[in-house]
Amino acid sequence: MHVHDTNHSHLPVPQRACLFLDFDGTLVNIAPTPDGVVVPTDLTALLDDLCDALGGRIALVSGRGVSSIETHLPAFVGIVIGGHGAEMRDQNGTMVRLAGCDTDTAGAHDWARQVGLKYPGVGVELKRTGAAIHFRQAPEWELSVRRAAEVFADETTGLAVQESHMAIELRPKCANKASAIESLMRANPFAGYRPIFAGDDQTDRPAMDFCQAAGGIAISVNGIHPTADIQLGSPRAVRALLRDWLG
Ligand SMILES: [Mg+2]
Repeated sequence: MHVHDTNHSHLPVPQRACLFLDFDGTLVNIAPTPDGVVVPTDLTALLDDLCDALGGRIALVSGRGVSSIETHLPAFVGIVIGGHGAEMRDQNGTMVRLAGCDTDTAGAHDWARQVGLKYPGVGVELKRTGAAIHFRQAPEWELSVRRAAEVFADETTGLAVQESHMAIELRPKCANKASAIESLMRANPFAGYRPIFAGDDQTDRPAMDFCQAAGGIAISVNGIHPTADIQLGSPRAVRALLRDWLG
């Protein structure tokens, strides 16, 4: 049982903060398929206002590829970190590959296509930095897909298995959300500000830990992080908290 806390008094004022936000399950409800996500009408305006209030010290931090975030949030002009920290669209709109390790992306794509053929009903998502298998619509294959992913990750170099909501993913071993945020925090415009991170998934927990250790605040959605500073129950509650915070 966690406490639902919609009070923003724990948050540093926007003038002293920087903000890192997961997308699926944090800003928008999780959909049956990644493409099926519905972006609430108030989200674009909220992100715009956050960008202004924070002087650009805001980044979306997603397991999706940057191009997928751009499809769903075409008006967002801030920084986007994609592929669990493997790639970034920086404040100038330039694509940067963050993770320096060599990964066999083509091999991961081949593997994912084969899994898609072998296990009917699973969804195959090819990313610039890896591949994901979604089994929300075929949950009976979860164990088989996980085992197959583990075997493939063992056999190849530079790829790690990443668990998320009803999906198993191969991502670059050296990429994660926490290290991507850490590198952003070393430079302008983020350095010296208190980081706030909001997330709802296992992949978000190290990023939350990093922000707390850096004197910032972790916002946990749906109880993913029991020792986060703020516990919220839904993306709607996250959006409401951020809106209240701007005043
Ligand atoms: Mg999420």
